[in-house]
Amino acid sequence: MVLLNDKLKTTSILNVSYINTNFTYFLQIIQARINQRENTFIATVNPEIAYYAHQNPKYQSILSSADFVTPDGIGIIKASEMIGQPIQERITGFDIFKALLEWGSQNNKSAYFAGAKPDVINDLKVVLKSQYPGIKISGIRDGYFKSDQEVASEIKDQQPDMVFLALGSPKQEAFIAKYRHLNNGLWIGLGGSFDVLSGNVKRAPQFWINHHLEWLYRLIKEPSRLPRIMIIPKYLKLVRKSK
Ligand code: UDP
Repeated sequence: MVLLNDKLKTTSILNVSYINTNFTYFLQIIQARINQRENTFIATVNPEIAYYAHQNPKYQSILSSADFVTPDGIGIIKASEMIGQPIQERITGFDIFKALLEWGSQNNKSAYFAGAKPDVINDLKVVLKSQYPGIKISGIRDGYFKSDQEVASEIKDQQPDMVFLALGSPKQEAFIAKYRHLNNGLWIGLGGSFDVLSGNVKRAPQFWINHHLEWLYRLIKEPSRLPRIMIIPKYLKLVRKSK
């Protein structure tokens, strides 16, 4: 049985505390919290975001205010091994998103979606209706809105079980930290997950993921990501120095 306030083991790397557990157990905790309408903030952090947090104390304190920070990148797992405190499992935002949609559809949960480009949102609507018909859509809009306040008050009016924000970091976490008090439900930042679920960006095939090469696959598909990928060795260097 999962207890609502189960304290998960965490591992701290460069002042960010990552949950150190397995996906199935984590999901059960999240589902229990959603059922109880517990106010919950999940941040999914990869090395690039962790590096950014290290340079930005304000963002770092936003991450500290999250209920759960998941290790969303093989670079975080590598870093945990480097400091001698290995994290059990990589837990990605995309996998949480898909699992919650599946469960939410079976249990008629409501969800609010904001993020990505307008075309992506049109495709996402189609995917949600066909693959997750039980989800009650409380609102769905692209991520290029002018007024944060307007989006926040829509969420406040709708009181969804789950708020999925795919605005990229640090924007999505800053939004959640500012407005989470308006709705006792789950709030999670999902980066590029709407692009992937809608079919606009392809996730790496399982082989690449299993061999810890998802970053290389993304780089080949989108060479403009090179500067972002180059942050991974910089991040690992910082972790090594912090030992
Ligand atoms: N995005 C948005 N509003 C903005 C800036 C970005 O909705 O003002 C979206 C963008 O369209 C993309 C996502 O945020 O869908 C960020 O994707 P990225 O691949 O950078 O995220 P990652 O998964 O790498 O964190």
